[in-house]
Amino acid sequence: MSKVILALDQGTTSCRAILFDKEGHMIGSSSKEFQQIYPQPGWVEHDPEEVWQCQLEVMRRVLKENNTAPEEVAAIGITNQRETVVVWEKDTGRPVGNAIVWQCRRTAGICQDLKAGGYEETIRMKTGLVVDAYFSGTKIKWILDRYPGLRERAQKGEILAGTMDTWLIWNLTGGKHVTDYSNASRTMLYNIHELCWDEELLNLLDIPKAMLPEVKPSSGYYGSARSELLGAEIPITGAAGDQQSALFGQVCFETGAAKNTYGTGCFLLMNTGEKKIISSHNLLTTIAWSIGGKIEYALEGSIFVAGAAVQWLRDELGLIKNAAESEELAMKVPDTQGVFMVPAFVGLGAPYWDMYARGAIFGLTRGVNRNHIVRAVLESIAYQTRDVLSAMEEDSGISLSVLKVDGGASANEFLMQFQSDILGTKVIRPANLETTAQGAAFLAGLEAGIWQDKSDIEKIWIADKEYTPEMDLYHRNQLYNRWKKAVNSCRTY
Ligand code: ADP
Repeated sequence: MSKVILALDQGTTSCRAILFDKEGHMIGSSSKEFQQIYPQPGWVEHDPEEVWQCQLEVMRRVLKENNTAPEEVAAIGITNQRETVVVWEKDTGRPVGNAIVWQCRRTAGICQDLKAGGYEETIRMKTGLVVDAYFSGTKIKWILDRYPGLRERAQKGEILAGTMDTWLIWNLTGGKHVTDYSNASRTMLYNIHELCWDEELLNLLDIPKAMLPEVKPSSGYYGSARSELLGAEIPITGAAGDQQSALFGQVCFETGAAKNTYGTGCFLLMNTGEKKIISSHNLLTTIAWSIGGKIEYALEGSIFVAGAAVQWLRDELGLIKNAAESEELAMKVPDTQGVFMVPAFVGLGAPYWDMYARGAIFGLTRGVNRNHIVRAVLESIAYQTRDVLSAMEEDSGISLSVLKVDGGASANEFLMQFQSDILGTKVIRPANLETTAQGAAFLAGLEAGIWQDKSDIEKIWIADKEYTPEMDLYHRNQLYNRWKKAVNSCRTY
């Protein structure tokens, strides 16, 4: 009986369960969406019970549909939407309310107060994060403020908090209250230097330490899933937040290795090894993972609008029928005829962090047609990626040798070649685009003995396609300089 790994990918809109074999191949997968709850503009919630039941259902289904007995599963690995928090009663396991989702802006006011109080620098130095409502800390404070007596009960150890990994592990094991380092580092409560829940920050937000989980290695034993759930006890031996898990799934094990996920927006992470680099370009410093007693760090930057600009071409402008057509149209012309498009629809993310910037199309002349506009939109994704990677290179002093890519828009051949051209760097797309789940499977499989060490994983990781730069340096710099000018114009608009 050959052993498999069961990876759970608890995402923002769906729960997925994926089986991987020893070669890292996907054997089967199952997924199910759950409800998005919007109680007020800008607020986003999930029902924790529904998420748990949804996750359990897809776990059971993937085993059944692939004729896999629970005894064949060597281990479970978990990856999850980051920063989303649940607060529940220790005795009953009942949530005190809905989970507050990472996207939820309800704690923007608390963040304003922290900034006004001059805590930005302290928080940045201790946690590696910028003060923002995304992160879990202010969400926990909000819940504690909301329900009378809850804080006192939390002090007594009767109330627990956790991110989605913690919530799932609690339910799977029937009461283990744990998280991994990568998830802890997104709470804005965890000191990434001293590796502990930070007393000063806990006091600042009035959060009792007793309600926070024990922080464990990303690859390590968390407890076992109860046999009544799946028909056998299965050890849980890996956990990491989704972006860190994708970095691991892309085998970005070396210092300087980086990945970019091209989805609605882009998420870029660069492994900085044992060095925690505090960015001077507003990038986040985060724990990548901890394995075998060693913590490794990453720099992270996100781009708000990437694939979403392709959707805009389709839905608002009607220039393309579907996302894939953008590739065909872009390739019909040799260049954009000097057109630059900056998709600053909701301001600009890293490294600009300018919420007032707005989108624009520059350089229009009479001969410009839809192919040029479509091409300019795809190119904007590559330019924004260079903006973030350049910031990472400056912060880290490391020059990027390869960029690993995944996500929906990484299927676009034109975009990937242009990305390589504009970076002057090799771009590699893996055969398995399920890098997030694969990362969790790798982390779990390392601890479970499926793979002995990272080099075993490197051996089974397969590239689908490599893109090498074809553009000369002069041309590359000329285009990029014009992009920078276009961005600057959007910022003063
Ligand atoms: P998310 O997880 O953020 O929903 P996905 O990884 O599923 O994103 O990717 C979907 C995004 O990728 C959409 O915004 C879509 O416009 C874009 N996309 C998908 N296929 C292509 C393509 N062939 N070319 C360009 N963009 C694409």
